[in-house]
Amino acid sequence: MSLSQDRLREALGRATDTEQAILGAGALGSVAELFDEMFGNQPAAIVADENTLGVAGETARRGLESRGHQVETYVFPGHPVLHADYENIEALVGWLREREAVPVAVGGGTINDIAKRAAFECERGYMTLATAASVDGYTSFGAAITRNGFKQTMECGAPRAVLADLEILANAPPELTAAGYADLLAKITAGADWILADVLEVEPIAPDVWSLVQGPLREATARPDDLYTGDLSAIERLTEGLLMSGLAMQAAGSSRPASGAEHQFSHLWEMEGLGREPQGDEPPLSHGFKVGLGTVSIAALYERLLDRDLGGLNVAELTRAWPSWSEVERRIRSSFAPDLEDQVVEQSHPKYLERPQLSKRLALIRERWPELRRRAGEQLLPAAQVRSQLRAAGCPTTPAEIGLSSEELKATYRRAQMIRPRYTILDLLNETGLLDRCVAELFNPGGFWAQA
Ligand SMILES: [Zn+2]
Repeated sequence: MSLSQDRLREALGRATDTEQAILGAGALGSVAELFDEMFGNQPAAIVADENTLGVAGETARRGLESRGHQVETYVFPGHPVLHADYENIEALVGWLREREAVPVAVGGGTINDIAKRAAFECERGYMTLATAASVDGYTSFGAAITRNGFKQTMECGAPRAVLADLEILANAPPELTAAGYADLLAKITAGADWILADVLEVEPIAPDVWSLVQGPLREATARPDDLYTGDLSAIERLTEGLLMSGLAMQAAGSSRPASGAEHQFSHLWEMEGLGREPQGDEPPLSHGFKVGLGTVSIAALYERLLDRDLGGLNVAELTRAWPSWSEVERRIRSSFAPDLEDQVVEQSHPKYLERPQLSKRLALIRERWPELRRRAGEQLLPAAQVRSQLRAAGCPTTPAEIGLSSEELKATYRRAQMIRPRYTILDLLNETGLLDRCVAELFNPGGFWAQA
């Protein structure tokens, strides 16, 4: 048993939904055995698109049939590129309801998200056969779905079992592996945000969950160049890291272990449909590429924060200047389109502090600044290094590459603070009155983004 399998077994022991994960070269040969172990002699429904059917779906079907399973296949067209639109889920749900079969999702993040939500709506267990190391969503709950024009996270469970064959993953389109690398490197800044929330007693770190994600992270992200050459051990470490992140989210019952402010950047761009529109038959801009740019952005912001000494915060003055909730609400409404503002106000309200609470928070920041600075500093990588590692993996690292203007990126720092109740560096800087100043420093001549 490999080290990866050992670590995965430990994570599986803590996960709520996923019971089995097999990662290895030639793992596809075990698909029928794994299906039997999880679902007995039930019929299987392979859910694939024309591409993933050829890559792994047909082999999986033959394997299942050879063990006596009845297998049906639901195939999405290979062109145009499949999107995680709710209509695709409705179509699959309709088809699944006419049969008793257990869905086996064969594909990347999109097929997986469609199948997991459809299985949830049909109240069925399902299994995932990953064809690219592109997201951490294979083993997490929730699915990113576009409904009525808006990308949103829809409720649903994680799969009972996941199988990832390294030889298939290594042959996936390189931009998918690059996207997975970015989604994993994001755990650096996500971890720093969890440290802030821990030190400030907003959301304590669960050490066993923390170590599932952060333990193998440095090693798994250390060799971005090798991913390009299809080095199986580099792909294995990346995939292991992504699977572990999803399992850690199950263990925590929250995406906190895997998602911080860098994901809020991505969520904001997704909500508003910002960024490059796909050209022709090009796939939509991947989750990982958006998160990667978010990770560089937040790593650079952390440098502006940690460069300061907050041990002398003027708590009384900052508390006096603190806006009321109605003022904050007014600012949110003026920052978002009418069809989004209610939703943002609702997400933002739970984290708004009244003045006495703010005063306590600021006193704690002042008192614990040395610990906060030390722990966050140890967790983080320099923003320039984050950028060069992402570039080496084949990810975009400038706003222009994903179709954002510099002004849009700059505005994202303030606006991403408004969405989602999770406490991040954006909140700490907002509370200490430093957010706009730190962001300005990044875009001023000589600043990180001015140089980029
Ligand atoms: Zn992610």
